[in-house]
Amino acid sequence: MYLRKDMNKIKKLLVANRGEIALRIMRSAREMGIKTVAVFSEADRNALHVRFADEAICIGPPASSESYLVINKIINAARLVNADAIHPGYGFLSENEDFADSVRKAGLIFIGPSPESIKLMGSKLAAKAAAKKFNVPLVPGTTEPIADISNAKKIASDIGYPILIKASAGGGGKGMRIVNNESEFEEQMERAISEAKSAFGDGSVFIEKYVTQPRHIEFQIFGDQHGNVIHLFERECSIQRRHQKVIEEAPSSILTPALREKMGNAAVNVAKAANYYNAGTVEFIVDDKMNFYFLEMNTRLQVEHPVTEEITGLDLVKLQIEIAEGQKLPFKQEDLSIRGHAIEVRVYAEDPTNNFLPDIGTLKTYKRPQGHGIRVDDGFEQGMTVPFYYDPMIAKMICHDETRDRAILKTIRAIDEYEITGLETTLGFCKFVMNHNAFRSGDFDTNFVEKYFKPEFLVDETMNVEEMIASVLATQVVAEMKPLMIKSENIPSAVSNWKKNRLNE
Ligand code: ADP
Ligand code: ADP
Ligand code: MG
Repeated sequence: MYLRKDMNKIKKLLVANRGEIALRIMRSAREMGIKTVAVFSEADRNALHVRFADEAICIGPPASSESYLVINKIINAARLVNADAIHPGYGFLSENEDFADSVRKAGLIFIGPSPESIKLMGSKLAAKAAAKKFNVPLVPGTTEPIADISNAKKIASDIGYPILIKASAGGGGKGMRIVNNESEFEEQMERAISEAKSAFGDGSVFIEKYVTQPRHIEFQIFGDQHGNVIHLFERECSIQRRHQKVIEEAPSSILTPALREKMGNAAVNVAKAANYYNAGTVEFIVDDKMNFYFLEMNTRLQVEHPVTEEITGLDLVKLQIEIAEGQKLPFKQEDLSIRGHAIEVRVYAEDPTNNFLPDIGTLKTYKRPQGHGIRVDDGFEQGMTVPFYYDPMIAKMICHDETRDRAILKTIRAIDEYEITGLETTLGFCKFVMNHNAFRSGDFDTNFVEKYFKPEFLVDETMNVEEMIASVLATQVVAEMKPLMIKSENIPSAVSNWKKNRLNE
């Protein structure tokens, strides 16, 4: 046993990714005595992950389709430097079964699940079929791709509108269309198919009931190559824009221990249905009556994995590497418990007052918050430019404290301390959420942004409170023709240093 473990020990790891996640992975590898190799595009020559790595190889022009997404270039880079393993991070090739297969065929260790599991879970329809065999609850809907429109319409009216048309191969919040009534069905259906074809190269779409007040709750699972699977509790990711997460927390504010156990078991069953090993995430939506339904499984390390690390005290990347080396899970389900509460806010170079559109630019000022319980995972330094080619995420800030209330207060303090000038970010929006009664009380769902957020809330500090209320009321009355309850504490506090600093530029 010892001999086998030793033989499989990884000595040099290539990270097939960029930005904060590449750095995060390399840091754990270095602590394990593993040499690190970065790959980079021409746009990332001076990126921090390149500087941090022991070795770095340029793999092509800025466009990810010519660099980070080219399987052969990455395998060749690994061969060139004699790496023995590849970590895919998230995004890019992380959920590409051909990549995992090519890594295996090149005689290298893939830090992740088998290509077979990736393939199964990459199709939302196949994933649902597998989960069904283990009696995991599914959102009511079709189990096959829609071929016949009139039959699909009948199913939709049986389920009841609104319904959601989804791309089976979809991801990243893309490829979803809400249909409110039968008259819109055909048009939305055709759009969904053509979007799915162009975005994912696969036009298969299916129908799901649209859960109207959904909460997104997901379970981190881990399996080893010896058939053991456990879960590391849940993360709640209901604060989203464009069906994509901006704020995540662990644990969820609404799960009882009994429901946690039930959903955790369902998550483990989904993983077992896919013969899953390494890290994975089983996503559920929970309706207003606390019914839960399996959505999909992400076969990789998740963006928001740090909140799980904070409440469990585990390093998930180290665990991934050990499992890829063939080691057994070092603990059992009953050994695990939740310690305190963690909140992650994603700092995107986006303008919340302009529909969260990317606001790419140079980080004129960039000062991270510090202190007890605060962790910042990023890939930037002051003076660097956020490249326009990739995901506009600048950083993830994770705050951990004994209780949810304390974690919220810590997050607000840290947002105030975070200084970013030169571009707009989601920080001010995240502060707005932290101060909002719906978030504070735990009574919120994935419609938070549509329901409560108005760009006017992020007005500048030079305006006094009366002016702000007047300006908000004016737009609200025009928009909805009904009075708005303004919680005055939300208004001044929604303004943060980043905005003030920008004004002083
Ligand atoms: P998580 O579920 O970990 O929060 P996200 O949905 O935010 O993941 O996606 C993680 C990363 O992967 C992001 O950089 C996102 O842009 C990217 N991504 C996910 N799915 C796709 C996809 N199908 N096509 C392109 N990018 C994707
Ligand atoms: P992706 O692959 O893009 O992550 P998901 O199926 O995980 O797609 O859905 C992304 C988000 O869309 C969910 O977190 C949730 O907010 C919303 N969503 C998905 N399915 C439904 C549904 N049936 N009803 C309501 N909201 C949904
Ligand atoms: Mg998802």
